[in-house]
Amino acid sequence: MTLTFDPSTRLVIGGRSVESVSGATFATLNPATGQELAKVSEGSAEDMDRAVAAARDAFDNGPWGRMSPAERRGLLKRFALLVEANADELAMLESLEAGKPIFDTSTIDLPETVACLMWHAELADKVYDQASPSGPGVVSTIVREPIGVVGAVLPWNYPLMMAAWKIGPALAAGNTMVLKPAEQTSLSTIRIGELATEAGLPDGVLNVVPGFGETAGQALGLHTDVDCVGFTGSTEVGRMFLRYSADSNLKRVLLECGGKNPMVVMSDAEDLDKVAAAACESIFWNAGQNCSSNSRLLLHESVADDVLARIDEAMHEWIVGDPLDPETRVGAIIESAHMDKILGNIQKAKDEGATLRAGGGRTRVDSGGWFVEPTIFTEVSRDMTVAREEVFGPVLSVSTFAHADEGIAMANDTDYGLHASVFTSNVRSAHLAARMLKAGTVSINTYSEGDMSTPFGGYGLSGFGGRDNGVHAHEQYTETKTIWLDLA
Ligand code: NAD
Repeated sequence: MTLTFDPSTRLVIGGRSVESVSGATFATLNPATGQELAKVSEGSAEDMDRAVAAARDAFDNGPWGRMSPAERRGLLKRFALLVEANADELAMLESLEAGKPIFDTSTIDLPETVACLMWHAELADKVYDQASPSGPGVVSTIVREPIGVVGAVLPWNYPLMMAAWKIGPALAAGNTMVLKPAEQTSLSTIRIGELATEAGLPDGVLNVVPGFGETAGQALGLHTDVDCVGFTGSTEVGRMFLRYSADSNLKRVLLECGGKNPMVVMSDAEDLDKVAAAACESIFWNAGQNCSSNSRLLLHESVADDVLARIDEAMHEWIVGDPLDPETRVGAIIESAHMDKILGNIQKAKDEGATLRAGGGRTRVDSGGWFVEPTIFTEVSRDMTVAREEVFGPVLSVSTFAHADEGIAMANDTDYGLHASVFTSNVRSAHLAARMLKAGTVSINTYSEGDMSTPFGGYGLSGFGGRDNGVHAHEQYTETKTIWLDLA
């Protein structure tokens, strides 16, 4: 039997699969082999105009805006169930295009994508408006309305999960959308667009325009008929979206950007095996290409040797391999340029005097793909580049501290502030640390940074304007309107 791989590669506009105006395509590659997977239609500014026009028409004139929230809930649940029914195909697309282990895409990415869509679908008819305490002479209500056309510009590291984090709340709140997937990972997002049509979402409610950042992404950011852009990606590009907004129509901009997240292990941390397992999972999951990974491990000097010895053991579980092998825990790096950047950071850490304890090189070279060994540096000082800049790869930097206050100060010595973990058995110091750490999420005695009900986003260079997940995400995709009725 010959297996054929024939993914959908075209834009989804107005409920239909269409070619780009120019007919141009670009290659999408398999990071595990370096081979071309497919040619994807390349969206341009003109295609963005078409998609935004379809989304605007669906918002202003289509049935979506006239539906009751309960009807929207029903359609969005049907959409979530259809994604679930196609989870195997979508997990495979994610693995092939992003180099992610099939174990992760099938047990984490897809279930969480479905859970997110379902959670927000359920919220559609459960958020109440308000009445203000303005006295008996008036009826004053404060209502939440959809903003209008929402653009979503997405990263490649969790293509579907990050898409769902935007689609779920934005559509549940009644907006229409245009998605721009990262150019490295278009296929699963295109498929999601098709499934939205199949699920019965009205034409134009969810449009997908694959293409490059400098063209399609910029066109979306500058579009004067887009009311809001939700972006996940690098801080550098996030800044551009603020400029695009300032230079166009002051659209709302919501940014989820990078991180240089600390894991602080106090002298009284109870279960050092758990610490070691969490440290490895945090930095090696998704080959470290994770904005909330704890890339800085800060150890109290009294437990440092013990924790490091346990990490040496725990690392054996993090097997680098073919992403389609169910045993693989560390897949490929998204592209060769990013692999080179990670290897460059490793070299720089060595040059700056950090001690290489594990890994440090490229691996599986014969596969033709881009793989980096799980890597650990110890004796990292605060001013070294590996302690300050986001590597976005499987590279852990380990430093020690002598007093709890010093550990917290080191943790906060960053321009980012997405996520921080602290391990301690003392409830009081756990709470104190949680209050003192500058981060959008502080996890205590775990690496996990929350669930669908908890807002996710960062301080400082880690984000701007809002939070993903939870009721907070739903509200940020709405406008607040006051309706004032004078009874006199
Ligand atoms: P990126 O910023 O290069 O790309 C993100 C998106 O922006 C892509 O769709 C890309 O095409 C688009 N883009 C690129 N240049 C553009 C431009 N000039 N104008 C408009 N759009 C443009 O980031 P990436 O490499 O995809 O992802 C890695 C970064 O994302 C890391 O810094 C990581 O920390 C961050 N990230 C953050 C979160 C979070 O929730 N905070 C989640 C995942 C990733």
